[in-house]
Amino acid sequence: MSALQKQTEDSVQLREELLGKAKFPLMAELRELEDRVLKNTAALHQAHLNRKNLVKQYWQWRQRVELGDVKAGKTFEEELERGPRFRHVGVQNVIQTEYLSQQVDWLRQLLRREQTFRRHVLRVESLVNELREVNLLVDQSLRCPVCQQICKDPVSLWPCGHSFCQACFETLSVSAYLHRCSVCFSVGSEGCLPNLLLSEIIAKWAVKEAGYSNVTDSLREVKDHMEMFQRDKMQLRLNALEYRSKQIRDHGYLT
Ligand SMILES: [Zn+2]
Ligand SMILES: [Zn+2]
Repeated sequence: MSALQKQTEDSVQLREELLGKAKFPLMAELRELEDRVLKNTAALHQAHLNRKNLVKQYWQWRQRVELGDVKAGKTFEEELERGPRFRHVGVQNVIQTEYLSQQVDWLRQLLRREQTFRRHVLRVESLVNELREVNLLVDQSLRCPVCQQICKDPVSLWPCGHSFCQACFETLSVSAYLHRCSVCFSVGSEGCLPNLLLSEIIAKWAVKEAGYSNVTDSLREVKDHMEMFQRDKMQLRLNALEYRSKQIRDHGYLT
């Protein structure tokens, strides 16, 4: 055996020894690494599942809050603290369907009532308008032809019978004992008489007028408020809800 051959054999043997020694720890390290990768993947997957579940819980909670479920947590954190509920999909759907049909029912009732109310308001409005016209006529007939104000201490000229304020009557004087009516131009020498009936009507009318302005103010308030009622939006919401509850009825779930 040459020296070169011997050297080669020695080096091969040395290499095998070294590899043999290093092989086990290396393999162990590799297995550990593989293990860690697997665990890491599992942890990542679990985290992903948790997140997905949380989002699902969140939307269920949101929906319950929107549908007015008083038993739902006020915040999502509060809801989570209460732990899982209604895990069963069937139960979940039944609850959803009930909420939906309840809400559909409420909305339908609300829209119907609003319609009836609107009709009533229109009727009241036309009554108020009629009242306004009558009021205007009465108002005109209670005014003094001289000063155009509501007669103050009304008196009537004899013999024509037209009425004026006591003070305005004095301005109709044409001579010491004569007064000329500014409406029909007839001249009277008998002075005037207090018009008690007109006084009484004016006193009563003043009270009514105050009440009447209350009616018009209230009516205006009601009408302003009614304009805020968003009928179109409500109808859209109702349609959407009806569609959803129909889907649940037909398929047993939301699509
Ligand atoms: Zn007058
Ligand atoms: Zn007259």
